[in-house]
Amino acid sequence: MIRLDISARSVVITCDACPYWSAIQLERADAEQSGARHEALVHPDSYDFRQRIAAANHRRRARHAGSEHALTMSMDVLIVD
Ligand SMILES: [Zn+2]
Repeated sequence: MIRLDISARSVVITCDACPYWSAIQLERADAEQSGARHEALVHPDSYDFRQRIAAANHRRRARHAGSEHALTMSMDVLIVD
């Protein structure tokens, strides 16, 4: 299983199956790409990490869309008032 260790300054990517391998990135999106590339190259039969980041990104987008909707709604309320 590929893991992301996210700290304030960097993201360390590790793989349970490959204790000799790790990578470091500054941005979460780059770390997700590193992990996905490792999974595709070294564990071609596994899609676990790529599925997890796709689901997480989907949830993030849904939350973002929801907050934009909430902002529009509250602006509508302000205009009506
Ligand atoms: Zn691995």
